[in-house]
Amino acid sequence: MFEMLRVLTKPAIRRRSHNFFVNSASVIASVDLRPSRSFSSHQGGNMDPKKFALPARYQGQEKSVWVEYIQLALETKPLNLGQGFPDYAPPAYVTQALSDVATGDNVLLNQYTRGFGHPRLVAALSRLYSQLVRRPIDSQTEILVTSGAYEALFSTIQGHVGPGDEVVIIEPYFDCYEPMVLTAGGKPIFVPLRPKTESGVKSTSSADWVLDPDELSSAFNDRTKAIILNTPHNPVGKVFSKKELTLIADLCLRWDALCISDEVYEWLVYPPNEHIRIATLPGMWERTITIGSAGKTFSVTGWKLGWAYGPASLMTNLQLVHQNCVYTCPTPIQEAVARGFELELGRLDSPECFFKSLPAELEAKRDLMANFLADVGMVPTIPQGGYFMIADWSPLASKVPLNQEKDKWKDYRFTKWMSRNLKLQGIPPSAFYCADHKPLGEDFVRYCFIKKDENLHEAAKILKKWKGSSL
Ligand code: PMP
Ligand code: GLN
Repeated sequence: MFEMLRVLTKPAIRRRSHNFFVNSASVIASVDLRPSRSFSSHQGGNMDPKKFALPARYQGQEKSVWVEYIQLALETKPLNLGQGFPDYAPPAYVTQALSDVATGDNVLLNQYTRGFGHPRLVAALSRLYSQLVRRPIDSQTEILVTSGAYEALFSTIQGHVGPGDEVVIIEPYFDCYEPMVLTAGGKPIFVPLRPKTESGVKSTSSADWVLDPDELSSAFNDRTKAIILNTPHNPVGKVFSKKELTLIADLCLRWDALCISDEVYEWLVYPPNEHIRIATLPGMWERTITIGSAGKTFSVTGWKLGWAYGPASLMTNLQLVHQNCVYTCPTPIQEAVARGFELELGRLDSPECFFKSLPAELEAKRDLMANFLADVGMVPTIPQGGYFMIADWSPLASKVPLNQEKDKWKDYRFTKWMSRNLKLQGIPPSAFYCADHKPLGEDFVRYCFIKKDENLHEAAKILKKWKGSSL
């Protein structure tokens, strides 16, 4: 078995090492670990397909855009600006910490740790967020460490939303919010951010994507259990202003609703914008659960470690969900992230702090991408935060034979055609809208710019060549 793994894995690794177009996931996909056909059919007997259909609470959900587009990247081997992850090394002190922990003298760091969060990590998170939200946060009762921000969202929604509850979701939205609310029995109520873009402009700002205050207010009522906020925002890059957050806070207070604040890109904010934690607004600590991600904070998305913090009265519900599904997250990863935080806590105000140096590095990449997208004739939305950029590609529609792809939505056809023919991959933003509102995302594509400069220049070259061609 191990010999088979070695043989199968080797060529994939070799391919990756000299070809930057190949997504790291290809190494995994080259190894086929499915049981052999004869084994499964022999054991199965007659099984009633109806009896084993997907449970009702999951029915109607489709393959997520990530599943589909990671598979597409494996097949087309594009320059991948789709899924959000850096294609260069994370800070060495974080990866070194993980290797030290795994091989160090304290062998117990390779064993289970406290279920709601490793003591050293919750202590570091408590020190950090107590400063940032300007109130003491109890490391034992007000923080839960989770398997990525995904699990923090899942435990929050499962722990607080039930049948009949309405949850306000701002569109576009990180795609898992909707199925998570539905699976919990809740009803999503969508309110779109609308671009107030004038025609003929070469670029626009994520600040121009705004909520209509009346539309937002009318989404709240007695049944509203929560609103999901995401700032800095994926995919638009919007950093919500104090005025916008105050509007949301006032509605939460008026309708006695919870605010689930997804702040995974909290450190990735470009001047003069500032990240404001809604939990710091008057009356909001008591009704806010804030979510973070080590993947985004330390550029280690594959570590899949996240957290949620908020008042103990709300956190107990999340802990209950967590204790019987994940129970405890990997100890070495928690220990390494704790050491990373301890280092950064000692230099939060210095330019060397990774939470300051990373956005400074990304701002230049953002501007590089905005320029090459505008040069080719797209209309980029310059993000105030995060590491994604959406761009309106419709001025180029005549250059893309959209009928070559079968998908219903134009942005899916555009991105698939680009991936197959230009070997450049983006994400279709209609994936971030509910079924009825997908046309709002169709003219856009989302690209990720936390990539090596050489790869961003390569993307510019691909687009420039395409522009000059008569395709
Ligand atoms: N929320 C948003 C807005 C995201 O972009 C992501 C990206 N993965 C997540 C949550 C999930 O983060 P994690 O990888 O830590 O689960
Ligand atoms: N948050 C990342 C993105 O938006 C990754 C999402 C995922 O892989 N599920 O690209």
